[in-house]
Amino acid sequence: MARYTGAVCRLCRREGQKLFLKGERCYTAKCSVARRAYAPGQHGQGRKKTSEYGKQLRTKQFAKRYYGVLENQFHHYFELAEKMPGVTGENLLRLLESRLDNVVYRLGFASSRAEARQLVLHAHFTVNGRKVNIPSYLVKEGQVIAVKESSRQLGKIKAIIEANSARPVPKWLDLNRETLEAKVVAAPAREDIDLPIEETLIVELYSK
Ligand code: SF4
Repeated sequence: MARYTGAVCRLCRREGQKLFLKGERCYTAKCSVARRAYAPGQHGQGRKKTSEYGKQLRTKQFAKRYYGVLENQFHHYFELAEKMPGVTGENLLRLLESRLDNVVYRLGFASSRAEARQLVLHAHFTVNGRKVNIPSYLVKEGQVIAVKESSRQLGKIKAIIEANSARPVPKWLDLNRETLEAKVVAAPAREDIDLPIEETLIVELYSK
């Protein structure tokens, strides 16, 4: 599975916003966006004006990096979103938000989406009682996502869940903290997705 392996804090600084790619560090004063609030590289502090195309491109890059998805897969989600009824931009975010790795992160079962992806690949979760180890698996309304029975007592998993227990869970997921199970009670609505972007800019970019 292809994935970005470079320095992740550079990605946040390039986008000028936190992408929350490093887990706990992202919530501390050590965060690079807080310490160096300008783009990386030689001309990082000189870039000021952005064209319309530049804004569209940056918005797409931000969403892509936020969810840890590479270009081809992101474009595939856009094509799916176009075919769905409703608003394409919102459909796109709904698809990204429904990825199993994102859901695991949103539930506080991982400190970052990258960690969630690793844990999913290592088969620590079930969907409707069946093991699923595909990070891009799209969860659906009515399904139950759970930490696998045999993984619940693992020290590493317990520590991660404890460390992330204060993080709010979106209302489209009904989490039972005792059983470490969560039901998808609705499809994620736009207001449930805390992604600070104008998704219409991505639609404009891909519609050229
Ligand atoms: Fe981004 Fe987290 Fe690094 Fe801050 S600490 S720059 S939010 S990855």
